[in-house]
Amino acid sequence: MVEGTIIKSLSGFYTVTSDEGIFICKGRGVFRNQKITPLVGDEVLFNKIDDDSGYIIEVKQRENELIRPPIANVSQAVVVMSAIEPAFSHLLLDRFLISLESEKIKPLIVITKMDLIDAQLMDEFYTYQQQYEAIGYYVKLVSLKDEQWIPFLKEYFKEEITVLTGQSGVGKSTMLNRINPDLAIKTGEISSSLGRGKHTTRHVELIEINEGYVADTPGFSSLEFTKIEPEQLSQYFREMKELIPYCKFRGCLHDKEPKCAVKKAVEDGEILSSRYKNYLTFLQEIQSRKPRY
Ligand code: ZN
Repeated sequence: MVEGTIIKSLSGFYTVTSDEGIFICKGRGVFRNQKITPLVGDEVLFNKIDDDSGYIIEVKQRENELIRPPIANVSQAVVVMSAIEPAFSHLLLDRFLISLESEKIKPLIVITKMDLIDAQLMDEFYTYQQQYEAIGYYVKLVSLKDEQWIPFLKEYFKEEITVLTGQSGVGKSTMLNRINPDLAIKTGEISSSLGRGKHTTRHVELIEINEGYVADTPGFSSLEFTKIEPEQLSQYFREMKELIPYCKFRGCLHDKEPKCAVKKAVEDGEILSSRYKNYLTFLQEIQSRKPRY
């Protein structure tokens, strides 16, 4: 038996990398009965049929499992936003961060196109950087035409499975191509619509960079927070989480309740009002979604 990682899945055929090379594998028939679908990112054991094909016989326990895009064992994410074109949105950034937090995936924030904005706007981004770093996120401001971010990201990708996510047009494909010119990913092709392209959901592929794997993906289904209950939401805001025990009421939603420690922190300027505003927007979305049966 050989150990490997699935890096691509297409119509029931799985591309598996291993110490002995790359193999195209089929799943064992018994997986269907056990309702196991091997996913990109899965660590597997397989038997070789010949030098380039085999049968997967075991899927190892997953660390986590994203539904859309379907990838297992994602350990971290790079949220790519641009300073301009498309314009930066706090709401969208927080949407990415909260959905990642809810999946227990560690995010890194990269803001691109810093060379395309004026000095005044640049100051605003330095402020955002400080504010989000105070919450506990690392924020990297980059100009794609520079080189300095390339070794940084390469090092970040090392030995991890990373999801690269963000709106179309922010420069994700450009970044991957700059890191590894052999990839020649067609810029803009992948993410023509945010998270809803059929190609991107069916065809997931991990790209090997610096002994790690990277998936370029336009978004997550969980951006709609379908798995989050109203009382869970504040746990995914890092700066609110620690205050929850100090709210007067258990299950406080930090909205209309009196003696709320989160609202107090917003009033005192310890929590960004923009973050709190986004919290309320997400809370309302979750509360107004249709119940699922
Ligand atoms: Zn509260």
